[in-house]
Amino acid sequence: MSDKTIFEMIIDREIPADIVHEDDLCICFRDINPQAPIHLLVVPKKRIVRISESSSEDQATLGHLMLTVNKVAHQEGITESGFRTVINNGPHGGEEVPHLHLHILAGRQMQWPPG
Ligand code: AMP
Repeated sequence: MSDKTIFEMIIDREIPADIVHEDDLCICFRDINPQAPIHLLVVPKKRIVRISESSSEDQATLGHLMLTVNKVAHQEGITESGFRTVINNGPHGGEEVPHLHLHILAGRQMQWPPG
């Protein structure tokens, strides 16, 4: 696998981030270029490159990421107003960082279909 991703640098505290949650399996921090008033990224500490490269070995981690979305959403007070969770996968998905991450977007009305 190639060099560290920007998210591994955040996990290793080599670059700063506004971290709102961390545990043994994942970290959650504010997106540096927010697309909504609240924009968070939930990132596994294990580098799963993208969801299409995950395997059954990752089942517990993937489940944990979803439960962390729930936890952080409650922490941020956005469960009643609502939020959107997004995973971008590959070129057409708009993926920029090859390290799996779940976006949490909130604080404004989301539209459908997405751009
Ligand atoms: P994606 O397009 O799904 O790969 O999303 C990557 C996201 O990472 C983008 O929303 C970026 O704004 C965000 N991002 C890139 N570098 C950083 C950083 N240093 N701290 C926080 N978010 C970042």
